[in-house]
Amino acid sequence: MLFISKGMNDTQNAPSKTIFSEIRKWKEENDAVILSHYYMPPELQTLTKDGGVADFIGDSLGLSIEASKVKAKNIIFCGVAFMAETAKILNPEKNVFIPDMDAGCSLASSITAQDVIDLKKKHPGVPVIAYINTYAETKAECDICCTSRNAMNIARSFEHDTLIFVPDVYMGQNLQKGIEKETGKKLILWHGRCEVHEQFTNTSLSTMRMMYPDAEMLMHWEVPEETVEESFHDRGGVLGSTNDIIRYVGESRSKKFILASECDLGAILKGTYPDREFITPCIKCPYMKKISLVNTLAALKAIGTDDARKYEVNLSPDIISRAYVPVKRMLEFS
Ligand code: SF4
Repeated sequence: MLFISKGMNDTQNAPSKTIFSEIRKWKEENDAVILSHYYMPPELQTLTKDGGVADFIGDSLGLSIEASKVKAKNIIFCGVAFMAETAKILNPEKNVFIPDMDAGCSLASSITAQDVIDLKKKHPGVPVIAYINTYAETKAECDICCTSRNAMNIARSFEHDTLIFVPDVYMGQNLQKGIEKETGKKLILWHGRCEVHEQFTNTSLSTMRMMYPDAEMLMHWEVPEETVEESFHDRGGVLGSTNDIIRYVGESRSKKFILASECDLGAILKGTYPDREFITPCIKCPYMKKISLVNTLAALKAIGTDDARKYEVNLSPDIISRAYVPVKRMLEFS
């Protein structure tokens, strides 16, 4: 169990100031911006204007929107590969780089484009909603993308009685509950799982629930349905997207929260609400943690050299134009 009490500014092993200033210098020199996800290590979750390196910090929807507004020629994406691909889909004329190409995602790799083609053959005429956590080739076969922030609104918008939702089975089950109650719609689900959020079980949360009977629950939609049933419904708090979680803490009167989402989301929560207490089993995404200040600097320095190939996201024009359709439709809901 971990109490989140520190951000990057007071971490004992804080990175040297030199690397921050070097990154800022290379960003300027190479006309680049850094987009950084809330699950990045805390040192990548501080804005340039506050002495850090990120130009924008957000969840996957926020980063997708920001990617579509970027003016710089080069984007360094501090997140995982499917997110960097989304930035490329929205900015085909820009160069998009990821500091480590191996920053994958268990959800994105659970489904291929062929799997979607097969699902559509099996269920002709049923629209396919793809969670943003999919690779570009998979997106290209889907009708619309969604994030945990807009999934409910998007599912609601279809007139069909049945929808296909891929790839997260847990988020799909949680979404199914809400949408079925409200509209009677049924979802056909895939079997993907986020290997971080599936670890939030009733057992893993039981000790902290016992020790903190008055703490509210901050729970991501990607946790298993039975955890939501037992550990959320009798306690209250928020069940939603990363942004819903951040917003909820600001609106709540509670001083203590149990965080059932990626550990480093605690950095932005504690930074934004220093007077609140956050307790978490501290489960970290191994893919997100592949990104560091060191490889971010290396990617920046590589821009314009042969080494850039190691970091640059490349998608074929055909995949970009087909994947753009479901991503653009999703952004119209934002
Ligand atoms: S936290 Fe889960 S969904 Fe997000 S990148 Fe990691 S494995 Fe994928």
